[in-house]
Amino acid sequence: LASRDFHPENTVISIKGVNIGGGELVVMGGPCAVESAAQIDEIAGLVKAAGAQVLRGGAFKPRTGPYSFQGTGVEGLIMMAEAGQKHDLLTITEVMTPEYVDICAEYADILQVGTRNMQNFDLLRKLGTCGKPVLLKRGFSSTYDEFLNAAEYILAGGNPNVMLCERGIRTFETYTRNTLDLSAIPVLQQLSHLPVISDPSHGTGRRELVVPMTKASVAAGADGLIIEMHTDPDNSMTGDGVQSLFPDQFADLLKDLELLAPAI
Ligand code: PEP
Ligand code: MN
Repeated sequence: LASRDFHPENTVISIKGVNIGGGELVVMGGPCAVESAAQIDEIAGLVKAAGAQVLRGGAFKPRTGPYSFQGTGVEGLIMMAEAGQKHDLLTITEVMTPEYVDICAEYADILQVGTRNMQNFDLLRKLGTCGKPVLLKRGFSSTYDEFLNAAEYILAGGNPNVMLCERGIRTFETYTRNTLDLSAIPVLQQLSHLPVISDPSHGTGRRELVVPMTKASVAAGADGLIIEMHTDPDNSMTGDGVQSLFPDQFADLLKDLELLAPAI
């Protein structure tokens, strides 16, 4: 079902007037984690003012270590839903387990599957019947074939609204957190009809690389971007402050994209 041979036309995912995969560049911005109501409200205002369409923020965080901050949970979901409504933004949040799919689907417009869960087949099956679009992140050691097979689980469950997200893969290079695989963008668009989103934040792990790799992703034909932005990145509650743009950088980047996107 994920294959372009089966479905030659691009899939366009329409959510409350925003079309993803239809030629318009969709930008999702916000913090790694929802930390407080005030934090997500302030960032939502900045995301909207910059011209993005979707507010990102994790309420359930897949942390490498069990003693790190694990997210604000259901309270965070509610805070984010309120901020999204107030600032007229769609919302995207990560769901980590099948048990939490229903509650995440109740509060968010798009459900994100993190890189560590790309082959959590029980989760993928449950997302097949959740009724909400899903952004599936590529496993950091997954081939395109494994990635498309993971998408297939959600599609086969009856949910046609899947976005594929390239978020960097693990290579021998340690200077960057991951290696953003730009080839994935045209390859996945050739093999599949699903929208392809690029995540230059996790793809590089370094703030100073997010702007150039965002532009490179647009040049490679990405249908959308998911970018971390924080008002106080040095004090963010996850380690992802180092890759989060400051609000001014995020706003300037979106201005540049307006100039770049139509020309391509
Ligand atoms: C995130 O989006 O904050 C995240 C945890 O992403 P990934 O699953 O790509 O590491
Ligand atoms: Mn993050």
